[in-house]
Amino acid sequence: MKLQSLHDLYVRELKDLYNAENQIIKALPKMVKAATSPELERAFEEHLQATRQQVERLERIFQRLDESPRGAKCKAMEGILDEGDEMMDLDTTRDTVSDAALISAAQRVEHYEMAVYGTVRTYARQLGYQEDARLLQETLNEEGEADKKLTGIAESRVNVEASRTA
Ligand code: FE
Ligand code: ZN
Ligand code: FE
Ligand code: FE
Repeated sequence: MKLQSLHDLYVRELKDLYNAENQIIKALPKMVKAATSPELERAFEEHLQATRQQVERLERIFQRLDESPRGAKCKAMEGILDEGDEMMDLDTTRDTVSDAALISAAQRVEHYEMAVYGTVRTYARQLGYQEDARLLQETLNEEGEADKKLTGIAESRVNVEASRTA
């Protein structure tokens, strides 16, 4: 389909995000299981709940636009999650090292999401879709909070313990 305006590009990018979020919903339960720190496990569980709400926000936007959420595959998220699988398969002698690898994988996901939500939020504002912009900003804030929480867990505990040499 030929994109004829920012509106068309907006819809296309929302479809990409919708697919990306659904890939994340499939991947997060594996990350919950792989986490050894209870704090990290809880962070992933909470973000899984948040992600389900993010999908609902996107569905509300698609309804308003009278468009289907389907039709795009986020290859970037597929690649990022493939790398996450590799991280989970790393051989480590210490749980905190594998938790550090999990955090690294999860932060790649959050940063990709922040990039795209920031872009589509800005498109929504330009297009005068204020309610969309509000919903997208809400999700953008959640992705940022998830990222900060992961940084906190890494810096306060996981990286500290993983760096011990004995
Ligand atoms: Fe998300
Ligand atoms: Zn994407
Ligand atoms: Fe993409
Ligand atoms: Fe996220």
